[in-house]
Amino acid sequence: MTQYRNLIGGRLETADATIQVINPANRNTIAHVPDLSQTQLEQAVVAATTAFATWSETALKHRQTLLSRLSKAILDNKTELSTLLTTEQGKPLANAQGEIQRCADWLSYFSKIPELVGLMERRIDDHAFASKVPLGVVAAIVPWNFPMSLAIWKVAPAILMGNTVIWKPSPFTPLTSLRLGEIIKDLVPAGVINIITGGDKLARALTAHPLINKIAFTGSTQTGKAIMATAAQSIKRITLELGGNDPAIVMDDADLEKHIPGIFWGAFANNAQFCVAIKRLYVHEKIKDQFLKRFIEYGRNVIVGDGLDPAVGIGPIQNESQFFKVSAMINAAKERGLEMITLTETVPSAGYFVPVTLVINPADEDETVVTEAFGPVLPILFFNDVEEVIRRANDSAYGLASSVWAQDTTLAQGIAKRLQSGTTWINTIHVIKPQIPFSGHKQSGLGLENGIEVLSEYANTKSIVVGQ
Ligand code: NAD
Repeated sequence: MTQYRNLIGGRLETADATIQVINPANRNTIAHVPDLSQTQLEQAVVAATTAFATWSETALKHRQTLLSRLSKAILDNKTELSTLLTTEQGKPLANAQGEIQRCADWLSYFSKIPELVGLMERRIDDHAFASKVPLGVVAAIVPWNFPMSLAIWKVAPAILMGNTVIWKPSPFTPLTSLRLGEIIKDLVPAGVINIITGGDKLARALTAHPLINKIAFTGSTQTGKAIMATAAQSIKRITLELGGNDPAIVMDDADLEKHIPGIFWGAFANNAQFCVAIKRLYVHEKIKDQFLKRFIEYGRNVIVGDGLDPAVGIGPIQNESQFFKVSAMINAAKERGLEMITLTETVPSAGYFVPVTLVINPADEDETVVTEAFGPVLPILFFNDVEEVIRRANDSAYGLASSVWAQDTTLAQGIAKRLQSGTTWINTIHVIKPQIPFSGHKQSGLGLENGIEVLSEYANTKSIVVGQ
C-alpha cells in the first residue's frame, strides 16, 4: 500500500497513529494516513508562522509565479491525481478530471488576476492611503465532496495575499491532497503550504490554536457554527461556506427539451453530494406530467456504479455514515407513504450505492424537503403561481444557490432577484468560475470565495495618514 505523508515545514512526515481510508465503491481499505499528534500540529503551526515572516515580505510577482508553477504541477500530474480522487471520493473519473483541471485553472487565474494593483494599495488623497496587509497563518479546512477544488479556492488567494496555510482535508478524502503535497514539496518555500491529516479532534485543535489568524472553512452548517464560536475567542477572521437546500424553479414556459439534462445533473452531479445541488425542485403544475415523463426517461438511462467505469454517471455515497443517513431518509419517506419513484433499477452491492430516488410532491414540511439530503434523493414539488413559489423557495434557513428555468427571461430575472441566495442561475446551473464571487446567504455561510472580492477575505485593511 502506498505510504502517504503530511507536508510540514517543507518535509514529509509520518505519525505514530493513522487513519484508514476506504474506497467507497467497494469498501476496500486503500491507505492509512497520518493521524497527527498535538506535538506535530504544533510543529506545523510553528513552521507556518516562521514562513509567514518571510513570505509576507515577498513581492506580489514572486507569489504569482509560485501560483503559476503550482498550476503547472497539477496539470503535469492530472491523470494520476484524477484517478486517485475517484478512488477515494467515488465521483466518476470525468468529474474528477474536471475537478483537478479546475484546481489548475483557479491557480492560473490568481497567478495573473487583473485589478490587483488598485486593490493592494489605494491612494485616498495626498495624505492618506489604504493598503491590504496579510493576516498570518490560515487554516484551510475542507470537506469530502470536492476535496481538491475547495482547498485550492482557499490556498490560492491566501498565499497570493502573503499568508501561509495549513490545509486540512477531510479524514475521508485525504489522499489526493497528500499526493499533491509530495508533488509540490520542492516548489513551495518551506512552511508556506502545509498539508496535515487527522480526525475532527485535530481540526478542533487547529481552529482553536492561538497562532492561527484565519479559518477558511467549507463544510456543514453545524461545524461552521462550532468554528464561529471557537474563532470568537480570539476574533480570528473566518470564511464559512456551509450547507444549502437549493431550490430550482421550473416555469410553465421552460424549454424542457433543452434543459432536462441540466436540471437532472443540477440535482445529481457529483453523486448528489454537492453543496449547490438542486435539493428542492419546484415545477409548474401546468407542465408537471410532461416534465416528470422526460425527467424520468432521462434519469433511467444514467448508470450508478464505480466511478472508474467510464459508463457510470453517478458514483457511490462517499462514506458509511452518510450512506446510512441517506438510506434512512429514503426508508422513512417510504414508511410515511410518500409517492416515490426509483430511477435506478440496480446498484452494485459492494459499495455505498444509493439508487436515484424522486419523492413526488411531499408536503413543504416533509423531511425530504427541509433537510439537506446530500445524496440522490430529490423532492419534486408542484406550484401554481410565482408569488407562491418564491415564498416557498425562500422558506429555508439556508441561502446558498438557486436556479430559475424559463423562456421568459425578464420574468426569470425578476424571480432571481427575489430569491434569497448567494448565486442564482437562469437556464443554466453550476457555472462556477474563479472570477465570479461565490457566497452563502443566511445560514449557508459568512464571507465569500472567488472573484477579486475574495482577496479582501485574506487581508486586513490598513490606512496610513500623514499629517500636513
Ligand atoms: P463537516 O462539517 O463534517 O466536515 C468538514 C471539515 O471540517 C472536515 O475536514 C472535518 O474534519 C472538519 N471538522 C469537523 N468538526 C470540526 C470542528 N469542530 N472544528 C473544525 N473542523 C471540524 O462536513 P462534511 O460532512 O465533510 O461535508 C458536507 C457538508 O459540507 C454539507 O453540509 C455541504 O452542504 C457542505 N458543503 C458546503 C459547501 C459550500 O461551498 N457552501 C461546499 C461543499 C460542502
